[in-house]
Amino acid sequence: MAQPMLHHRGPDFHAIADRVRTRLRDVFRSSGDILLFASSGTGAMEAAVSNLCSPGDRVLVASAGHFGERWVAIARSYGLDVVHLRYAWGETPVPDEIAARLVEAAGARAVYVTHSETSTGVVADIRAVAERLTGSGALLVVDAVSSLGAVPLEADDWGLAVVVSGSQKAPMTPPGLALSSVSPAARSASGAAALPRFSLDWARVGSFGSTPAVSLVMGLDAALELLLAEGLDAAADRHRRLGRACRAGAKAMGLELFSPDEDRSAVVTAIRMPGGIDGREIVRAMRERSGVTVGGGQGELAGQIVRIGHIGYIGVADVTAALAALELALAEAGAGVECGVAVDAALEAYDERIRA
Ligand code: PMP
Repeated sequence: MAQPMLHHRGPDFHAIADRVRTRLRDVFRSSGDILLFASSGTGAMEAAVSNLCSPGDRVLVASAGHFGERWVAIARSYGLDVVHLRYAWGETPVPDEIAARLVEAAGARAVYVTHSETSTGVVADIRAVAERLTGSGALLVVDAVSSLGAVPLEADDWGLAVVVSGSQKAPMTPPGLALSSVSPAARSASGAAALPRFSLDWARVGSFGSTPAVSLVMGLDAALELLLAEGLDAAADRHRRLGRACRAGAKAMGLELFSPDEDRSAVVTAIRMPGGIDGREIVRAMRERSGVTVGGGQGELAGQIVRIGHIGYIGVADVTAALAALELALAEAGAGVECGVAVDAALEAYDERIRA
């Protein structure tokens, strides 16, 4: 990214952009169109609404947290008829319930779901959702902003119409680039979709009708090279083990998990704060005392949880550092945590230690 700027209409940049799209096809596991938006992930979410729907269309949204509810907000801002299957924050959406609600929401054009709900740590079983929706006629749109490249996802094999993501998560690139795969069915639906759109029109984005974010595309090229050299399966396995390590460390300290204690929850581990402890203070103490930045609870979970993210350019030593910083912050705040055991439990669960 620090190399001299390339002209965005010249052959050198086009070669890089083509390579990035090819690499992203491997990551999305999609043979469809690959779009690079100069926006954050939300731009690709919005485009997945405005490019698929017409005024007054009915859509189904299944949400279980902050980012799932964003689909509702976007669809409503376009005046769509939103059928909202709302799960409480922290719950895991049930594929059969989504399918049943879609039958009730007769004629829904699209179903919007979240793969990894970053606000809670829940990763939904999108493959099962897609299976239940087969033959329904509705297009399945998946927010994979915090899962693409970390958790297995198969756009073509699972029949996902649109998948959206962002550069700043597991694709290990600075913020500012949204990514999307668009299936042929979604592409053809966009031809008839009459919602207003301009800079986020898929046709415009796909042809780089506006100036692309050249340096970010170059950074993404390098990052995808790293990811594909590791291999998607190996990367998914690493994330699975990082999740196991983080959960094992938190439990060893005597803390209660908010996110599910299951392998699919490989993106972010949400940990409940012990009684009387404000998570916002713990987040601040971890940053100021130990230089470790973690997330707090969003929206209705503010103060109640701390979220340790473990996607992208992360190894087990990052997780153990976060656990040690959490232990220190909690102990200093007077929470009765078990000290001196979390790091050991995490390394054991990660299962990559040379044992004597
Ligand atoms: N969806 C999910 C699951 C996310 O984690 C995020 C960002 N944290 C977004 C959507 C929004 O992405 P952005 O902030 O890049 O617009």
